[in-house]
Amino acid sequence: MLSRKETILKAARRTAQEARAAASRRRDAPSSRQAESGVRSHRHCVVCWTPIPLDNDPPICDKDDCATMQEKKERSRRRLTFMMYLFPAIAVFFVILEVLGPSG
Ligand SMILES: [Zn+2]
Repeated sequence: MLSRKETILKAARRTAQEARAAASRRRDAPSSRQAESGVRSHRHCVVCWTPIPLDNDPPICDKDDCATMQEKKERSRRRLTFMMYLFPAIAVFFVILEVLGPSG
């Protein structure tokens, strides 16, 4: 016959084991569920909105149309970013000219 303390210890150990098992089950569950349904953790092609893997970079599907479209978008975006830096730079350049002009 086990003492009361031993019984409690045993129960505690069993509970801990069950908790650990449940935790590992929980850790496994999402990935397997994700693999089955393919609904979790994905993104969409920015052009045609087809679901694509999360690690696709650029975020497009493998259609040529989408690659071309994405490249166009990317290029215009880069041009826009460039202009956003260029115009202030030009403005600053003219301000400096103004400041230097009269005195020089
Ligand atoms: Zn696409």
